[in-house]
Amino acid sequence: MQADYHIHTYLCGHAKGMPDEYVATARELGLEEICFTDHAPDPDGYDPANRMSMEQFEEYRGMVESARESSNITVLYGIEADYYEDCEKFLGPWLKENDFDLVIGSVHYLAEWGFDNPAERKVWDAVDVDNTWKDYFELMGRLADSGLYDIIGHLDLPKKFKYRPDDNTLKKIAAPALDSIAAAGMSIELNTSGLRRPVEEIYPSLILLRIARERDIPITFGSDSHAPEHVGFAFEEALELARAAGYTQCARYRARKKELIALPGSD
Ligand code: ZN
Ligand code: FE
Ligand code: FE
Ligand code: ZN
Repeated sequence: MQADYHIHTYLCGHAKGMPDEYVATARELGLEEICFTDHAPDPDGYDPANRMSMEQFEEYRGMVESARESSNITVLYGIEADYYEDCEKFLGPWLKENDFDLVIGSVHYLAEWGFDNPAERKVWDAVDVDNTWKDYFELMGRLADSGLYDIIGHLDLPKKFKYRPDDNTLKKIAAPALDSIAAAGMSIELNTSGLRRPVEEIYPSLILLRIARERDIPITFGSDSHAPEHVGFAFEEALELARAAGYTQCARYRARKKELIALPGSD
């Protein structure tokens, strides 16, 4: 069984298609399970251009519920929530009071800089690349230590535009965050959207995935769909990557509890 655990909806303002169309693609591909994980709303005005409003949240919930009812595959209810300074104040209680199946934790900003936003790509030419990655992985470590989330979203997102440290530097920079992720009992996702970006690689790279494997960090699969045709995108390639890193199992989630199951084709 392969599940797609990273799917957006039009409510975030930068995705298209109706939930039923995402479900239809999943069914065509033979996926038995998908999880909607749209960008979480934020009452304090964090990045409002890329997320539903608090008022739209009920609509999101209802939309996922009706997709679940009308579908003959398993449709889970999730959310992608950013980690940023002081996010615990809102996210701490809010994530608990909602009945999500899983919560993806992501970092899309370093201070005010949306480092993965094509419109802000030029900033990369002006910063120290290694130090930028250090800052990013420090936030990743804090994200894990917060205990708020289940799955790390696109672990090495800063590689999107191909600005990256050499392998040995990267290993050193990422190790403490991976320790925190392991200690928190979190999973990381193999996010195939990187293949649709300038870097043309799955997040994370094999080198980081091997370090995760050494620490027994479970994996999930996600297309980061922002259109129905993205569902299950390049999942064969993701499976190959998982196997290359030594994985034989992946995680599945229900009501924020994980369970390890065999990778498709390895049971
Ligand atoms: Zn998005
Ligand atoms: Fe994201
Ligand atoms: Fe996403
Ligand atoms: Zn994402």
